[in-house]
Amino acid sequence: MKIQTAMDAFVKEIGGWVAGQLEACTRCGLCASACHFYQVTDDPEYAPVWKVLLLGLAYHQRFTVLGRLQKALGPGKPVTDQALEKWARLVFEGCTVCNKCAMVCPMGIQLGPLIHSVRAGLTAAGLAPADLHAATVKQDTIGSPLGVTDDAWRERLDWIAEEWEVDIPLDKKGAETLVVFSSIETMKFPENIVAVAKIMAKAGERWTVSSKGREVVNFAFFEGDHELTKKFLARVFDSARELGVKRIMISECGHAYDAFRWTAANIMDVPKGIEVTHVVRRVYDLWKAGRIKLKKGAFDDGTITFHDSCKIQRRGGHIKEPREMLAWLAPKAFKEMSPAREQSLCCGGGGGVISIKEADPLRFAVFGLKVEQMKEIGAQSVCMVCSNCRLQFTEGVAHYKSGVQVRGLTDMVSKAME
Ligand code: SF4
Ligand code: SF4
Repeated sequence: MKIQTAMDAFVKEIGGWVAGQLEACTRCGLCASACHFYQVTDDPEYAPVWKVLLLGLAYHQRFTVLGRLQKALGPGKPVTDQALEKWARLVFEGCTVCNKCAMVCPMGIQLGPLIHSVRAGLTAAGLAPADLHAATVKQDTIGSPLGVTDDAWRERLDWIAEEWEVDIPLDKKGAETLVVFSSIETMKFPENIVAVAKIMAKAGERWTVSSKGREVVNFAFFEGDHELTKKFLARVFDSARELGVKRIMISECGHAYDAFRWTAANIMDVPKGIEVTHVVRRVYDLWKAGRIKLKKGAFDDGTITFHDSCKIQRRGGHIKEPREMLAWLAPKAFKEMSPAREQSLCCGGGGGVISIKEADPLRFAVFGLKVEQMKEIGAQSVCMVCSNCRLQFTEGVAHYKSGVQVRGLTDMVSKAME
């Protein structure tokens, strides 16, 4: 039975930290108001506290006397495989693991990581959505969730280098910085790769990409498959070791930053002495150090706003860097959405949701909240530092015909270089 497999997997997820979080919940329900999926559906099943209920049930039944007694005496309805399938839709299609709900919980419960554990149990029971799982399998077997083969990747980089006349060093030993891009950037936003190449060249930074550690995205992380998550992370960490770099620079990808910067250290041996940084931080540092110079007011034409990505700003804390750069690039035109910064609304495409076809109606419904936010301030363009968010915004503004231009901040920086 799937329920048994899932319950066993939930139990493996429950350590002291998870137990403490589950025990602390008072069931007040305040977290519901923070969730964009709850806001657009008004359905209590989308409330964060409901999404973690299965994990709580596993904890209660296996680790508490009362729970064991209740299970033995049989009051209450047992969870069926059908109910489990419904829960899978809730936590994979109706949750971006954005952790906004944790910002309002009076008990400080980190619901995002708990929902991640729920996903892990459901994946163990074979209930990860087919589209998401297919992408994970492609990443495992081909090396890219979009199915980009080694040869296709090299050809694509050669084409980008030739078309934009930039240097993209490959497998360069002794480079300082290993830059890891996502398949989304390689295939849909090649200007991100061009932008990094131009910034690195201008700053005189010795950098490289790696053919062995070429994919920053980690679809197993979305699924909660810990073994495959480690395998995908190790491809990049091993490359960094072999190339002898000082740092790994995560490109415009949010969940990858979370996986490399925090998750990795908790689930595997990470290489000592190799810094993990995000492109927004590195570019900011290069600018502050005077290694690149930016034209003041280069984007001061038409109201521009910034979308805070859940994993880079809320989780990663990189809130001041993009704002300082935007205050320079667009001192008159930059305007904040509300709420913003760590309280920002998720775009609705994170946590792998954008890859699940069946989630499209819900994904676009929650993006409507972003459309409203942008409309309120009269934004003509919006920029961000995550390509997954950027893809969601690109598709979302087309869906709503809102006409807002969607940009990547790294690309803007490269275009503003003197
Ligand atoms: S806000 Fe916190 S304490 Fe209240 S129901 Fe949600 S998780 Fe539990
Ligand atoms: S993590 Fe985000 S999407 Fe998931 S329940 Fe919490 S607020 Fe909703």
